[in-house]
Amino acid sequence: MFARIRNRLTLRYALVMMLLMMAFIIVSSAGLLWILYQEERQDLRSFAAEEAREQAGIYKEKKSFFQLPAKETEDTDHGAKIFYYVFDPNQQLAAAEEPPPAIRSGVLRFIHNWDAADGEVELKKFRLADGDRAVVILCGMKIYDGSEMVGTVFVGEDISAYYHMLKMLLLMMVVISVIFLTIAAFAGHLLAGKAMIPIKQAFFRQREFVADASHELRTPLSVLQLSVEAVQNDNDQKLSSFSIQVLDDMNSEIRRMTKLVTDLLTLARADVGATNIIKEKFDLAAVAETLIRSLQPLAVVKAVNLERRGEETLPIMADCERISQLLLILLDNAIKYSPAGGKVDILLTRAATPKPAITIAVSDTGEGIAENDRQLIFERFYRVDKARSREEGGTGLGLAIAKWIVDVHGGKIRVESTPGKGSSFIVTLPG
Ligand code: ADP
Repeated sequence: MFARIRNRLTLRYALVMMLLMMAFIIVSSAGLLWILYQEERQDLRSFAAEEAREQAGIYKEKKSFFQLPAKETEDTDHGAKIFYYVFDPNQQLAAAEEPPPAIRSGVLRFIHNWDAADGEVELKKFRLADGDRAVVILCGMKIYDGSEMVGTVFVGEDISAYYHMLKMLLLMMVVISVIFLTIAAFAGHLLAGKAMIPIKQAFFRQREFVADASHELRTPLSVLQLSVEAVQNDNDQKLSSFSIQVLDDMNSEIRRMTKLVTDLLTLARADVGATNIIKEKFDLAAVAETLIRSLQPLAVVKAVNLERRGEETLPIMADCERISQLLLILLDNAIKYSPAGGKVDILLTRAATPKPAITIAVSDTGEGIAENDRQLIFERFYRVDKARSREEGGTGLGLAIAKWIVDVHGGKIRVESTPGKGSSFIVTLPG
């Protein structure tokens, strides 16, 4: 139970941490991209404005555009990182400083189809022949001679290097986050374990207390029971009918309390792991038969027909005493919660596939259990009808013990029920 809580806590820590890291990566990279883009945009716009002014000056003098001498760039032979194209109003290329050859045709095609507003900036990705991507930022600026528009200059910058750097940065952030997340999950697991130590101690102390208290209560209860019985059997005493009634009530209350304390002790011992499960080979059908015989008087009193069906012999490797207790709980409940004239049967079967298994099904034609209650009846002290359970001498711990017995044998217990028609408790044990 504690391991499960610890793992769940660690998972939650890790999940919260992952969400925070993801949010951090998304916000920081989006912010960084935005700032860089805004700066690039601003730079390119001023460069385009300057280029437009320069070209306007040339146009004023010669009434045509002339190719300017190549600017000094680190990449002159292979095209410039910052490049420009000047087009006259007829869309004819008038002057240019070309970009790298790999993106030239792509850039020109884009510019031809681009009806750029004055100062408009566009970010464009081009797929290169080697499968890589080039990222280019472009700005269109009109060239004026006085008030007459004499051409357009398109200035562009190949920012692939920034783009790849940002991609690498993002990848690095993701890798670092994964590493930190692993460390954080590991640390979270350790811290959750540390935080649970006092809780665990308190929990075990409380369980031990219940086990000790139940154990200590057993002796005075049996002394009380013996004393009451001694007084009841004392023929020398002349008891009034009132006293006889009081002694009867006391006797039945002491029995109820003894059962409650015994059930509590069983669960408390199971909780602190103080119960030894001794597995041995025995015949389950024979155990069921013996139990049916011993419960027959109760069934007769309640006018319930009790029978066994299925395998005649059924060898099983299990703790005989505990399995017998399990059958007793299920059969006792089936009889208790069935009306007069009802039918209770226990069906024992063996299956070879998919895994060898033994199935015990205890069915009754009683009041049945509503869907909502079916999930809860295996919990301690859960009773659908408290008054009814008390009247029948129930403690609300029977099915919790039954579930524990099934669990320690590596089996499963479930209930099928139709309210008003009856219930079936089906136990599957490894065979
Ligand atoms: P109890 O001592 O009250 O019988 P259990 O743990 O054995 O406690 O059962 C829990 C509750 O489940 C019971 O109070 C009863 O309401 C319901 N229950 C158990 N078995 C049956 C059954 N065969 N038919 C109808 N209700 C049942």
